[in-house]
Amino acid sequence: MAGVAVVTVALIGVEKYFTGPSTPVFDYSGEPNSDQFVHDNLLATLYQEMGHAMIDQLELPLLGQEEDAADVASVFLIDALYEEEAAIEITYAAADMFLALAKETGEPYWASTHGPDLQRYYNLACLFAGADMDARAHIGEDLGVPEDRMSWCEAEFDAAKASWGAAFEGLAKNAPAQSIAYDGGTETLTEKLIMEEIGSLNEDFAFPNKLTVAVEECGEPNAFYNPDEVRVVMCTENAEWLRYLPLPE
Ligand SMILES: [Zn+2]
Repeated sequence: MAGVAVVTVALIGVEKYFTGPSTPVFDYSGEPNSDQFVHDNLLATLYQEMGHAMIDQLELPLLGQEEDAADVASVFLIDALYEEEAAIEITYAAADMFLALAKETGEPYWASTHGPDLQRYYNLACLFAGADMDARAHIGEDLGVPEDRMSWCEAEFDAAKASWGAAFEGLAKNAPAQSIAYDGGTETLTEKLIMEEIGSLNEDFAFPNKLTVAVEECGEPNAFYNPDEVRVVMCTENAEWLRYLPLPE
C-alpha cells in the first residue's frame, strides 16, 4: 500500500511483520531500557486511551483531531492524579519516547491520525510546564521548548483545563465507584501496573457505562480504545517495544 511503511519488528526474538505508519523500525540488540521507563510510558499510554474513552463515553464535542485531544487528556490526567515527582518522571519518559520515535521513523507519516512525533513531544512539554509555570518553566526549557512557544504554554494549559475540566469533574462526581473493570493477568509488569491503576482510577472516576481495560496480545506494540465494546486494550507487546526502543543520548 502506497505511503504505508512495511517494517520488520523482532518481538521477543520472533520475526513479525507489521504494516503501520507509526510502528518504527527498531532492533533488540541495544541495551534494554529501565523498568521505570517502560512503566511510565505504559501509564502515559493508558491515560491517552482513557482520553479516548472519555471523549466517547461523555460524548464530548471534538473541535480538532481526536488524537490531539487524547494527548492533552493524558497530560492533564497525569498532572491531576500524580504527585509532582512522579508526574515529572512520567513526562520525561513520555518525552524521551516521542523523541526516540521521531528518530526511528525519520520523515513523519503525514497522513497519520496522530500528530508528528516531534510535535507531540513539544505539545507534551509545553502543556506540562504550562500547568504550573512557576514551578515547571525550567522543565519546558530543559526539554527544549523554544521561548516563543513557552510564551503560550500557560494559556494552552488553561484552555485545556477549560475544555477538559468539566468532563473530569463530572466523572469524579459519583466516585468512588466500580465502573472500570480490569480484564487481564496478574503477573507481568504491564498486568500488575494496569490492574493497580484501575483500582485507583475507580477511586477517582465513575463512568456512566462500564468501561473495561484489558491487557492482551494484539500482534503489535500498540493500545486501542474500542467504542463498540467500551473497552481499552493495552497490548502486551507494548512493554517489549518500550524496553528496547533505542533512546536518544
Ligand atoms: Zn490515541
